[in-house]
Amino acid sequence: MTKIMLHNTKSRRKEDFIPLDLSNVRMYVCGPTVYDRAHIGNARAVVVFDSLFRLLREVYGPDYVTYARNFTDIDDKINARAAATGRNISELTEETIAWYLDDMASLAALEPNVMPRATDYISQMITMTECLITKGHAYNAEGHVLFDVKSCPDYGSLSGRSIDDMIAGARVEVAPYKRDPMDFVLWKPSDSDTPGWDSPWGRGRPGWHIECSAMVHEHFGDSFDIHGGGNDLMFPHHENEIAQSSCAHPDGAFAQVWMHNEMLQVEGKKMSKSLGNFFTVQDLLQQNISGEVIRFVLLSTHYGKPMDWTQKKADDAAATLRKWHKLVKNARPAALDGAVLGHVANDLNTPGALARMHELVKAGDADAVLAAGQFLGLLAADADWWKPKQASDNVKVRIEALLTDRSQAKADRNFAKADAVRAQLEAAGIEVVDKPGGLSEAVITEAFDPDLL
Ligand code: AMP
Ligand code: ZN
Repeated sequence: MTKIMLHNTKSRRKEDFIPLDLSNVRMYVCGPTVYDRAHIGNARAVVVFDSLFRLLREVYGPDYVTYARNFTDIDDKINARAAATGRNISELTEETIAWYLDDMASLAALEPNVMPRATDYISQMITMTECLITKGHAYNAEGHVLFDVKSCPDYGSLSGRSIDDMIAGARVEVAPYKRDPMDFVLWKPSDSDTPGWDSPWGRGRPGWHIECSAMVHEHFGDSFDIHGGGNDLMFPHHENEIAQSSCAHPDGAFAQVWMHNEMLQVEGKKMSKSLGNFFTVQDLLQQNISGEVIRFVLLSTHYGKPMDWTQKKADDAAATLRKWHKLVKNARPAALDGAVLGHVANDLNTPGALARMHELVKAGDADAVLAAGQFLGLLAADADWWKPKQASDNVKVRIEALLTDRSQAKADRNFAKADAVRAQLEAAGIEVVDKPGGLSEAVITEAFDPDLL
């Protein structure tokens, strides 16, 4: 069996991955808070853990891997967005979930086996909160239930920080009802305008962290294999998940391996709405950057390094994929190349796998290229890489200019030139269809190659 090595945030080392149960390898990844379109940074996390899911399926068999990714559909940001837009909360979350699944499918991300929604697990969250109170790890104060951080000696072990460092480094909400500023909310009261559920502490709603702990426990029990997310979640979200779960279920180990992807930036800067460099996946798709191109760019940097999204990377990826699609047009997938698998099994070295694919392309091994592409979520037969919408604006301008040249040549009765322009377009995979009234239209075919224009 292929040996998998993964960098474990908990031990700060690359380790051999040894599943707890070979008949059910379990991975949980923190999913989106659903009030808006997924941005390209969210897509990075999805593509990283999709690559890991594909690796686990390849090595252990698709029937022996369970991937769970939640939807956080209770959150104050959701409530605020619904209030600001005058919309019903469940309408907003349903719409956002449908968008999310569509956008991630366009990146060829496989759907996780389980996609629990927080609102379906309120009773489990209440049970876990009660259990933490009973065991002396949580207390009720002014309608809130708070986790008592000092009751958990290992608190901070994931990010390797002391409680004092954490207080200094984080914007900790100080509230009069907290015993310690680091204590975090398990349950909080809801007023009549805010969604709420009945609980032993009155009508209220859960805190964010308990959502994941309760959903993980429901699906995976006390111990499971891999927990993932972006490294912005390491503290406080993941520290708090560990504290809640290990104090409620002290016999379990919660996650064996913690994996965190680094953040994505755009053209060298943090992606933010105020800098005007904030892209949703949908924005890029609308700009004729295909989902396959986005995926390729995301795979070309190791998940453990910060990465930069640039237009140049997208253009280069489109050119590479065009060549690769042509090579594999009549190929039949061979067995998966051992070196491609070896790279991905070595702590998800996807850039290494792509470099190996370039070698296979150079060697003209179309069948191996197709198999490797399919493993990485690339080169699907139905990828619409060649369709007109994929033509960049420059290419469209160039085609228009050639059509104008040809019309002018015909008007000048210079038929030799008109034919030469048509031949040039055809050589680049563009058919010219003449219409009544002297107009003509360019139809981009599957043989389209903008480099030949
Ligand atoms: P959120 O909906 O903001 O909680 O994020 C959902 C997932 O996307 C989490 O795993 C985050 O860590 C991840 N994420 C958010 N922003 C970025 C970014 N700029 N780069 C990479 N991953 C991100
Ligand atoms: Zn989580």
